[in-house]
Amino acid sequence: MKRILLLLAIAGIVSCQSTHQEKTGVTIFENATVYDGNGNKLENANIIVSGGRIECVGECDTPQGASVVDLSGKFVTPGIVDAHVHFFQTGFFDSRPDAMDLREIFPTIETYGYQASYPERYYEAYLKSGVTAVYDVGGMPWSIELQEKCENDLSAPHVAAAGPLITPASPERIEIFNNPVEKVMVHLSDAETGKRTVRYNSSLGSTGIKIWGVAIDDPEFISNLTEVANEVERTGNKLIVHSTPLAQAKAALGLGARLLVHSVEDQVVDEEFIQLALENNTYYNPTMIVSRGYLNATKAVLGDGFDFQDPNRVIDDKTVKMISEAPEYAYLVDTAALRSSLPRRENRLAMRDSIMAANALKLHQNGVKLVVGTDAGNPGTLHGVSIFNEMEAMQRAGISAEDLIVIATRNGAETMERATDFGTIENGKMADLIVLEKDPGVDISAMRSVLQVMRGGKMIQVKN
Ligand SMILES: [Zn+2]
Repeated sequence: MKRILLLLAIAGIVSCQSTHQEKTGVTIFENATVYDGNGNKLENANIIVSGGRIECVGECDTPQGASVVDLSGKFVTPGIVDAHVHFFQTGFFDSRPDAMDLREIFPTIETYGYQASYPERYYEAYLKSGVTAVYDVGGMPWSIELQEKCENDLSAPHVAAAGPLITPASPERIEIFNNPVEKVMVHLSDAETGKRTVRYNSSLGSTGIKIWGVAIDDPEFISNLTEVANEVERTGNKLIVHSTPLAQAKAALGLGARLLVHSVEDQVVDEEFIQLALENNTYYNPTMIVSRGYLNATKAVLGDGFDFQDPNRVIDDKTVKMISEAPEYAYLVDTAALRSSLPRRENRLAMRDSIMAANALKLHQNGVKLVVGTDAGNPGTLHGVSIFNEMEAMQRAGISAEDLIVIATRNGAETMERATDFGTIENGKMADLIVLEKDPGVDISAMRSVLQVMRGGKMIQVKN
């Protein structure tokens, strides 16, 4: 036993040394067009990376012994932040049996067990999509542990995580998400239960306390939620809220919500909403593509194919297999009913899309800070690669590509409470950056042309 421990210790030292080596080398990137994440575009700029950090940006002399990388004609931005993901979800219905029940093939308890034991499965998809940081805004307690684990692993994105959610949804409705050992949802039965959840998540180190739904017509719930909000304030944590009707979202802002993880979907936001968001310094994550993802995943089961792009083959094999075999699950559902529901769902989505787009643009124009978040893990919204679709949807809403670069990098780091570490290309920041073939300041789709990604000074080749 001792010998095994010794061998493990040696292996640990070796792997630490190799990580250390990656971080101590000095590299200079030369002649790039750099978007620094603060809204500046620097032509013919150099970037020096040393010890995993950025040491110089702009006009920099080549340090002796530095490896030189010529980026003439190439573009550099900070690493992207996906500010809305869920590691407990797979990107398909096996982790959302409430939306489509495939439990005969995929028992939920086993799916959730696998997600807990192997979150590494998504790291490559994130990094090779240029995403160097993610915010898990709701999951099992183990998601909070990823914060520390991933921070010290240059093969993983940085993670911030909120942990289990507090919700007005009934115990019967949320039972399907929970298991006898761990919960992802806590029913707010009384103020004390909510306050204890806040204290527990906070003591685990959660970045935020997430509320799933604000039942404004239930005075008892609102009274309990107010006590929860006060406890969040008292513990020095912050409130994250999922609420899509305008009245609910306003109530969330009234309680001090600092991050709204979904669009207001029922109507265009008004002046009162904008003022509340500005006063709170609330970040607004439009999360525009996730509902269409559910529809695409449904169509996959109906045999219509699954609409996603993965030219660099970054999605893990298990996910690809599950999606490609989707038509084989059709015997578990009422295919005729599902197919006849498609036009109605398409219409509803089209209406909702236009309200979400109008709200994202209006809030952006009025100075409310947006972030980019995909809700990855939900059916049809795959970890990593979905980031491009989300940024493109925000661009279609009328937000300029140059503004989107800031939204997708610096703003995301701010909402993760990591802006002093990453999110911009500035002296002293961690060397998290991406090299692109095409100009993302002209069209945000250029983010798809990612060639290389650097996380903490470690370079990852995406395309040769
Ligand atoms: Zn979500």
